Amino acid sequence: MPELPEVETIARGVDARVRGDRVVEAWFSGEREPFKTPPVRQAQGLAGRAFLSVYRAGKHIVCAMGPAADERLRDGEQAEAQWIVHLGMTGRLLVTTAAAPAEKHTHARLTLKSGRELRFVDPRRFGRLEFRELQRGPAFGAPGAEPLEIGAAAFAALFRGRRTSIKAALLNQKLLAGVGNIYADESLFRAGIRPRRIAGRLSRAELEQLRQALKKVLRHAIRLGGSSVNDYVDAEGERGFFQLQHFVYQRAGEPCRRCATPIRRIVIAGRGTHYCPACQH
Ligand SMILES: [Zn+2]
Repeated sequence: MPELPEVETIARGVDARVRGDRVVEAWFSGEREPFKTPPVRQAQGLAGRAFLSVYRAGKHIVCAMGPAADERLRDGEQAEAQWIVHLGMTGRLLVTTAAAPAEKHTHARLTLKSGRELRFVDPRRFGRLEFRELQRGPAFGAPGAEPLEIGAAAFAALFRGRRTSIKAALLNQKLLAGVGNIYADESLFRAGIRPRRIAGRLSRAELEQLRQALKKVLRHAIRLGGSSVNDYVDAEGERGFFQLQHFVYQRAGEPCRRCATPIRRIVIAGRGTHYCPACQH
């Protein structure tokens, strides 16, 4: 499942390719899923609108769309609508030529004025597509705080009084948006904190180490992703995401890269959790 760095990378890649382009026509499959807004409404809502920008909010990709009628795009144009894409487990957002054959499980095809197409492909249909008209309702906002932007005091406040493990708290999307299993395990390793520790009992200094570690690992992964963005935004075939060299994630039994102690695997909140019993306290 794509996590924050992958979603960020895809959003940037799509932004670079469609910003300023206009939707000529939108086609949606007749499936019940993955549509949070009925496909007919999405198609009508998107037709004629230009992409002002594409950005990440939590694990969602938000396309900020301009007015439907105006042909000229002004600088600093306010978004009038949003097309919100959640990739789920297997969803992909592709920029192709109109002539490129559509893959199986293509649920959306946005024909653009440039001749390109923006396509959403999702074999397992856990992804979600939503359309919002901002005159009729609120703009989309991911529920949790942005881990790349949050300051020390606000970060510490998220965990105050929490009796769950720090691992479970990191995965709680209402607290932090977009942190999944890989980056939770990797940031806890870098901060030297055991995943089972009670979130509310971590010291301010430990939480600050965790915040820094989380930012660092996410930024590093985004940097890695930047070089491989073509592989999953421009492609038509099945491609894997770039991978960070993991310290602990899915390395159970293998030697710790810092101290050679075998990495342990436990289950927290139903998720496989990996840590080094020597490096993490
Ligand atoms: Zn170790």
